Amino acid sequence: MAEVVHLRGVVVLDDEREVRECWAVGGLLTFERPAAAADAVLEGWVLPGLVDVHCHVGLGPAGVVDVDTAQAQAIADRDAGTLLIRDAGSPTDTRWIHERADLPDLIRAGHHLARPKRYLRHFARELDDVAWLPEAVAEEAAYGDGWVKVVADWIDRSEGATADLRPLWPDHLLADAVARAHAAGARVTAHTFAHEAIPGLLAAGVDCLEHGTGLDAAQIEEVARRGIPVTPTMLQLAEFEAIAAQATKYPVYAAHMRRMYARRYSHVRDLYDAGVRLLVGTDAGGTIPHGMLPAEVAEIVRAGVPARDAVAAASWRTREYLGRPGIEEGASADVVVYAADPREDVAVLAHPSAVVLRGAIVAQSR
Ligand SMILES: [Zn+2]
Repeated sequence: MAEVVHLRGVVVLDDEREVRECWAVGGLLTFERPAAAADAVLEGWVLPGLVDVHCHVGLGPAGVVDVDTAQAQAIADRDAGTLLIRDAGSPTDTRWIHERADLPDLIRAGHHLARPKRYLRHFARELDDVAWLPEAVAEEAAYGDGWVKVVADWIDRSEGATADLRPLWPDHLLADAVARAHAAGARVTAHTFAHEAIPGLLAAGVDCLEHGTGLDAAQIEEVARRGIPVTPTMLQLAEFEAIAAQATKYPVYAAHMRRMYARRYSHVRDLYDAGVRLLVGTDAGGTIPHGMLPAEVAEIVRAGVPARDAVAAASWRTREYLGRPGIEEGASADVVVYAADPREDVAVLAHPSAVVLRGAIVAQSR
């Protein structure tokens, strides 16, 4: 590990501020030139480490993965510049990642909570009785790192040919559950595709929405007014057509998914235009590979969000939202270096020239 890394060029602190240089000394950032000569010099556009807020470390297409695979997932994210992860639920205990200086900073949401047959099999902690939700949320709040993830809606196949997305939980239990999380100092984020689940989530005081494809115009306004962020997960929404194609026994549901697929870009643009805080999440770990954050940012830009806002959401703005510093005096030296300015062209994000985690150069292109 290089003890002193000189970072220079354009060091982006936030939306307003840039400086010409800073240093990583003993793993921490400083703006004061150190007495010792630099062991390494990295030049270019230097950004605070990227953030993936919907990333399942420890989850694969068939459910839980082994430790080696989880490690490979975290490294794939890291090497793509993702140095802070808020996971969106994991079926396995990944607390060991906290001890690993070479892996991204991980904010766990515990096990995500669902019901039997009302979510992807082997992904979530499934509650046989909806009445257990508040207690389960309290348990996950104690086990996680300040976040709890609840699956709020999914197809109810028991309805047969008319099956569609339906809420998993009665509104009053959802409200009790969110209150339990808040009492424990945790925030709640909810998986939601469906319009029908949104009123219950808003009434419950949910803190954050994942996917959010069911939000209508009035709900978008309310979400904006209340400052509830939405993680669009464009890479996941791109799967909706394939999900619909497989749902041959459920034509109502398939048509619903296709409508949301068709309007996915304009929907995200509507969220942006309404002033909703957008977070960047890949939904990696189920069917989507890890290390895809640059592709997710590119999709958000394709939806019409300005590159500067998409990059800010993928970096300093969401670090702040999650309570983690960006490039500040004394902060952990977690930065990504690019050969060009990703705020001008987000395609640059796919090719970091160097990734620095806790002061160590963990990835570098030659
Ligand atoms: Zn997910």
